[in-house]
Amino acid sequence: MGSQRFVYADYLATTPVDKRVLAEMLPYFSEKFGNSSSSTHLYGNQALSAVEKARREVARIIGARTREIIFTSGATESIDLALNGVAEYAESGHIVTCVTEHEAVLQTCEDLQRRGFLVTFLPVDCNGCINLSELDEVINSQTIMVSLMAANNEVGTFHPVSEIGEICSKYGVLFHCDATQVIGKAGLDVRECNIDLLSFSGHKMYGPKGIGALYVRSGKPRVRLKARTLGGGQERGLRAGTLNVPGIVGFGAACNLAGDLWASESSKLFDLRVSLWSQIKSALPKAELNGLEVNRLPGHLSFFVPGLDAVQVVAELPDIALSFGAACSSNSDSPSHVLTAMGRNIDDIGSTLRIGLGRFSTEDEVNYIAERICALAINFGMKEIEN
Ligand SMILES: *Cc1c(COP(=O)(O)O)cnc(C)c1O
Repeated sequence: MGSQRFVYADYLATTPVDKRVLAEMLPYFSEKFGNSSSSTHLYGNQALSAVEKARREVARIIGARTREIIFTSGATESIDLALNGVAEYAESGHIVTCVTEHEAVLQTCEDLQRRGFLVTFLPVDCNGCINLSELDEVINSQTIMVSLMAANNEVGTFHPVSEIGEICSKYGVLFHCDATQVIGKAGLDVRECNIDLLSFSGHKMYGPKGIGALYVRSGKPRVRLKARTLGGGQERGLRAGTLNVPGIVGFGAACNLAGDLWASESSKLFDLRVSLWSQIKSALPKAELNGLEVNRLPGHLSFFVPGLDAVQVVAELPDIALSFGAACSSNSDSPSHVLTAMGRNIDDIGSTLRIGLGRFSTEDEVNYIAERICALAINFGMKEIEN
């Protein structure tokens, strides 16, 4: 036995701050600690220019203009500002979303429903895909906004963002996209995709936790939002409060780095995931993928082995960080809403493992994960599944 090794394979839940990102952030905690709103002295101006540099970097990765970026505390807050901000400005109307969205979108939409808004939750097929003609049909004269994610955190399925954007612009309906899992992993251009509002987060792309952004399209017709936080008028009056300067600097650096790395990183992650899946599949032929092999996030693997208790697997592998179903649903007893919507039964959901590979994953780690999971499954008396 060598020294204890530890493998991180939960990159969909969060990522480490890249050391290059951390290096850029550090001065903004101590030497350059100014408040970016204090424009009367050097400290404030130093902070302000760092924030504006980061805003350009964050805007660039989604093809936005600098002033279209509102900094928030993360994707959850961006989603809150987008959905509640638009709904409260409109005062009434119809919103379209989907049953497999992140809880931040779902719970906000359920709350809007309780407050008198009409909400349509589109269903998905067994792979987590929506039907575009169904989207087209449910939009009506009352519809104010469509909120659909770019890729699902639990099962990795991409939604056809540019086709969704086309439908929304055809009807003049706002399109909010939760792109938290996609930015930094695939190219996404807000103008090409007709996106009016887009939420994303630093900690899913090798930046720090507690920082995110909401893109709000400028130009006509204007996107009208009601602010959720009032106070000092920061962020064009939409998000008051002293800016998280080190976080913003880190988010900018993470976007800058991801802009350079995503293409080669994605192809590496795709190869690692294909290798992981083929090793699992050959040792455990009854294992089944959740979602499609293509049209999924490159480093994302979600699968189940009939009869296997995923909770037990996670408990038996304390040296491998992975998750069952979704990180969020592991806080609750209810089965994953995403897998349920895809038609998985309760047993298959209980047998589902989610592995997220990322920037620092290696071939060696992938082989180790496959070996450990397969040995465990076979040990659990799973031999019969080979037949
Ligand atoms: C992680 C995640 C969120 C929430 O992001 P935070 O920055 O942690 O609030 C929202 N949507 C998706 C798809 C996510 O993966």
